[in-house]
Amino acid sequence: MLTPPETEPLTPEDRTLMGPGPSEVHPRVLRVMSAPLVGHLDDSFIEIMNEVQDLLRYVFQTENQWAIPVSGTGSAAMEAAFANVVEPGDTVLVPTNGYFGGRMASMAERAGGEVAYVDAPWGEPLKPAVVEDAFHQHDPDIFGFVHAETSTGALQPNVPELTDIAHEHGAYVIADSVTSLGGVEFRVDEWDIDVAYSGAQKCLSCPPGASPLTLNDRTMEKVLNRDTEVRSWYLDLSLLEGYWGDDRSYHHTAPITNIYALREALQLVAEEGLEARWERHEAMATQLKQGLEALGLELNPEDEYWLPSLNAVRIPDGIDESALLSDMQADHNLEVASGLGDLEGEIIRIGCMGYSARTSNIELVLYALEDALRNQGYEP
Ligand SMILES: *Cc1c(COP(=O)(O)O)cnc(C)c1O
Repeated sequence: MLTPPETEPLTPEDRTLMGPGPSEVHPRVLRVMSAPLVGHLDDSFIEIMNEVQDLLRYVFQTENQWAIPVSGTGSAAMEAAFANVVEPGDTVLVPTNGYFGGRMASMAERAGGEVAYVDAPWGEPLKPAVVEDAFHQHDPDIFGFVHAETSTGALQPNVPELTDIAHEHGAYVIADSVTSLGGVEFRVDEWDIDVAYSGAQKCLSCPPGASPLTLNDRTMEKVLNRDTEVRSWYLDLSLLEGYWGDDRSYHHTAPITNIYALREALQLVAEEGLEARWERHEAMATQLKQGLEALGLELNPEDEYWLPSLNAVRIPDGIDESALLSDMQADHNLEVASGLGDLEGEIIRIGCMGYSARTSNIELVLYALEDALRNQGYEP
């Protein structure tokens, strides 16, 4: 017999979350997560599934029939998009301007695709002319782009121009909206996006576990007429159609509690109104930006493609970034994050997402950051 480990009842830290996700969860979402479970085929749960799908169509601004929460984190919705849409031999064009374009490449490759790249420096968006050139050079079947690059704090503007280029060349467009959905303007139908996925724990302020995905009919037709089976059984949309489509038959047990949570988080978006929510994110991030500037700091991306939900702040010369982050956590119970990849050591990343995007949190970030900078002799 193994003896039980010596553990106590769990009391997690109660931190202020202002990093790149997870963001703080709204109390109403936490409350529904303590509700008892019903079965995943219970009529009352099917009603909740329908409501989640309607709410997803609203936050994505789409009339797509296909709008579902994928079981798993944002990467699961991302992999569902690439694994289903990419068939072996398809050419997939992905960006090099951040961490998540690299993840797109890995997923496309695993799905049997040939990866081609469209370049921009980390911290800058793709330029339409460069995308056009890449289309001429590689003739891709699928084009993936990241609307809000969480690793760099850069927003991709000109989305309708990019989707036009792709469609003129007969390609399908997959948009990563993990750090934009419910936080910054994002419109699936108006911008002519074929596939979009997101995550729960960024601007929707919901725990990770059930992640938004939508596909239009044209793309579902490609998916349902594949010559080869999708390599992932779990994420195969032709099988998931049985559960989320008209049949409502068993595929895998839905993460009931996460669906409750997402339902309430999306309900909160609907109550606030999508446009009001975009405006709140911008107003809160503007407070943050002004406070950072008053400290003598500057954001890494140009104003033109500043991403309110994720603020990449340049670290002044001579400041030790990891000491900065650990002081803010130790002295103020606050989480913000370091840079990644090409920007590692050059920036810190401050999220301004969902329920975390509120004045008291912004004030704490500015106060804690000033304090931590002064610990290293920095005088604003
Ligand atoms: C967080 C994130 C993901 C991955 O989501 P997980 O929930 O961590 O799996 C993908 N793309 C972007 C842009 C993200 O910020």
